[in-house]
Amino acid sequence: MPLHPDDHFLYALSSNNAWAGYKSHQNPHFFPKLADGQTPQIRKPFSPLSNSPQANRLPPVWLGCSDSRCPETTILGLQPGDVFVHRNIANIIAPTDINTSAVIEYAVAHLKVKHVVLCGHTSCGGAAAALGDSRVGGVLDTWLAPLRAVRYANKEVLDAMKDERARGTKIAELNVEAGVNVLMANVTVREAIEERGLQVHGCLFEIGCGRIRDLGLGTKGRGGLGLDGQEDVVRGRHAQIVFRGGRGEMSVK
Ligand SMILES: [Zn+2]
Repeated sequence: MPLHPDDHFLYALSSNNAWAGYKSHQNPHFFPKLADGQTPQIRKPFSPLSNSPQANRLPPVWLGCSDSRCPETTILGLQPGDVFVHRNIANIIAPTDINTSAVIEYAVAHLKVKHVVLCGHTSCGGAAAALGDSRVGGVLDTWLAPLRAVRYANKEVLDAMKDERARGTKIAELNVEAGVNVLMANVTVREAIEERGLQVHGCLFEIGCGRIRDLGLGTKGRGGLGLDGQEDVVRGRHAQIVFRGGRGEMSVK
């Protein structure tokens, strides 16, 4: 019996937990070996997603990295038709990227998804490249520029970390935070948050153990007034607005 059957995001996390436990039980070396590197060899035909907005279980939209070790449907323990997906190198969310923007627009405005999940991961090659000082070449340096900007904006924190893996994980987390900020500034996303309680999440997939960690960003964080189950009060000189469940109520003092 799955936990949280009514909350698709929490259901996905509990499903992921069960899958990771099962995989580890089957083969204790599976995740540690996977964390050492990727060698994709099998390519299966693409299965078209069922995108009917009338479906009872609306799929979340998943924004993730193209890395072959992070196939969202598999790691969430889901099936084709369960999740709407956009993946790119290092899960970079840039407001001027028409590809990412079109996926968000379609998922939020047309499919009416209830959850937007931006998920980075440990051992990300894009993160490692952004932490390096050499040119990658071609269009890749341009693509990675927002991630390099994250690196320079957090130079002190990152430089203080001597462990290479920990530094890679930290910049992956900071990259998710930057991406969630872009999502929270997207007009379509903002309208859906205010009108129907769309939830925006920031997560990190830990390849070494197979678990997804919720970073507590987005509508749970500072950008979502009253959307984390708590009340947020904005006080003015003569009145205050209490945000509760995504709605604000003004009262005069
Ligand atoms: Zn990656």
